[in-house]
Amino acid sequence: MKKKMVLVSACLMGEQVRYDNEILPNLSPALQEWDEQGLIISLCPEVAGGLPIPRPPAEIQGGDGIDVALGTAKVIDINGEDVTSEYFNGAKEALRLVEENGIDYAILKAWSPSCGSKLTYDGSFSDSLKVGQGVTAALLQSKGIQVFNEDEIDLVADLLNG
Ligand code: SF4
Repeated sequence: MKKKMVLVSACLMGEQVRYDNEILPNLSPALQEWDEQGLIISLCPEVAGGLPIPRPPAEIQGGDGIDVALGTAKVIDINGEDVTSEYFNGAKEALRLVEENGIDYAILKAWSPSCGSKLTYDGSFSDSLKVGQGVTAALLQSKGIQVFNEDEIDLVADLLNG
């Protein structure tokens, strides 16, 4: 039987890839276990798309990740720079990895303009959220990948064990 693999946001694996250079504490025991079993491929789409660490925070303006893919919304950083192409390139790299490795599930960091799968920051840089997906989450979901966040790891455990 084919081994079920999971794509995971690199920051959820304790990698120092975030815009603010912080390392997220408390690596999930399940993620640690799956990593030891070789079930995880980690990626930071923003870094994969060519952005540095650290980098200015950015938010989607004019829609969500689906709208970015359609060309009707942009990702703009707090200095006003348009980083849409870097975000989209990172999403395409995530899709390439998923397709190359036959990955069915992704666990992506909530709220991020790349990785958020239900809510993202609303574009006002005021810590406000709106309903919608980040650029990577939207592209993966559009290709049939089931995308979860860090509060839904138990759901992925059920799928892996099912
Ligand atoms: Fe990278 Fe996604 Fe984590 Fe942001 S949320 S640091 S894009 S892996």
